[in-house]
Amino acid sequence: MTTTTDIPDLPTEITPQSQDFGRWYLDVVRKAELADYSPVKGCMVIRPYGYAIWELIQQALDRRFKETGHVNAYFPLFIPESLLMKESEHVEGFAPQVAWVTRGGNEDLEERLVIRPTSETIIGTMYAKWVQSWRDLPILINQWANVVRWEKVTRLFLRTTEFLWQEGHTAHETAEEAEEETRKMLAVYKDFAETEMAMPVMDGQKTESEKFAGAERTYSIEAMVRDGRAIQAGTSHNLGQNFAKVFDIKFQARDKSVQFVYGTSWGVSTRLIGSVIMTHGDDGGLILPPRIAPYQVVIVPIPRGNWKETVLPKAQAIRDELVARSIRVKIDDRESQTPGWKFNEWEMRGVPLRLAIGPKDIEKSQVELARRDTRTKSFAPMDGLGTHVEEMLKTIQQALYDRAVAFRTEHTTETDSYDEFKQIMEGRPGFVVSPWCGSAKCEADIKTETQATIRNIPFSSAPPVGKKCLKCNGDAVAAAWFAKSY
Ligand SMILES: [Zn+2]
Repeated sequence: MTTTTDIPDLPTEITPQSQDFGRWYLDVVRKAELADYSPVKGCMVIRPYGYAIWELIQQALDRRFKETGHVNAYFPLFIPESLLMKESEHVEGFAPQVAWVTRGGNEDLEERLVIRPTSETIIGTMYAKWVQSWRDLPILINQWANVVRWEKVTRLFLRTTEFLWQEGHTAHETAEEAEEETRKMLAVYKDFAETEMAMPVMDGQKTESEKFAGAERTYSIEAMVRDGRAIQAGTSHNLGQNFAKVFDIKFQARDKSVQFVYGTSWGVSTRLIGSVIMTHGDDGGLILPPRIAPYQVVIVPIPRGNWKETVLPKAQAIRDELVARSIRVKIDDRESQTPGWKFNEWEMRGVPLRLAIGPKDIEKSQVELARRDTRTKSFAPMDGLGTHVEEMLKTIQQALYDRAVAFRTEHTTETDSYDEFKQIMEGRPGFVVSPWCGSAKCEADIKTETQATIRNIPFSSAPPVGKKCLKCNGDAVAAAWFAKSY
């Protein structure tokens, strides 16, 4: 973490991934102008280019939330101390990380306020007022907001004291409906991650020790990034009746009895941006999947001869044609920089497709296209260019996904042997799938000895019939996915 006033200069070069992956990541984030350190310890500034990615992520998620029947609302940033203290597990989980407000203006507050680390408590308090009868259910509300969790060690986008996120909070009549909702939203996250971010994720259940404080069950999606570590990219919690009982969220059921609601909550955050950088980037910098790229195509006019009268108008006409097809385009017509400099710059900033056009291309009625993911170049006729570009963007999106799947497969090992497990975690890490007995002690011991944690128990993994726990040799209850993680 940087100190409050000492903001390091922007890197001039990007450190190669193989040399220092963590350094590479920070270099890319700062050089591509996605985010920067701020004068506030542990807090980042999301710069316009990074924020544009967040807006595209938001739009794609928000559309999915609404398609599944959810609506947006907004709840206060401040939570009275007494509310946070009501649910004991929840308090224990969050108390070490909360920021307090103790004064308002010149006066000490009668009751301290917490800056929301998450909103179950304040939203639960409101649901208790809003729910009377089964007819008021389900409540399907999402909030887009910022939250604060006091962090000692931070990393831009992946872990910061303040971050942006969405939190869904729902209330249901039955346990089955709540479970269905919890799983449904995890599936929404998975679809979003894979379709929009070209980021394959493993969906499954968190262990008891890794679940959300106050939940009955937590499900997660886990991505694998290019240094073989895992990133938890989203979580969905079945809260059962825990919060309903504490916050007194009751309703008259269809049979006239009085019941507590069943709750869920689910969230993803600006950490997704960190995940996408680490999933796709290379030594040249960022590689953005077209669907979340602020600019999908950058057009670089080649300044030869009277280019402003010839090349530039043609470049503008191409831009207009692409924009009409809802493609996000940037023309880089700065005279202060050479085309070669611009090529490097936009490559480093991850623009999926570069289109260059000069006087010779105009003569031949063609343009030069360069893909960021493969760094291959080709010429395309001006005729039918819009369709061609659309197709290429689709191809790039798919290619990035396929490459990430292949990388994950390559870095996933199944083993029953703890020796092999330890070797993998010491060397080139990745996912290791191993039988586990279900005991928190084995899980904790493995973590202490190897730094690897159980990311989740995938829905897709077959029960380990007849297998023995990796650590204690007791009967295994699950095939767990282990990894070192961010
Ligand atoms: Zn065991």
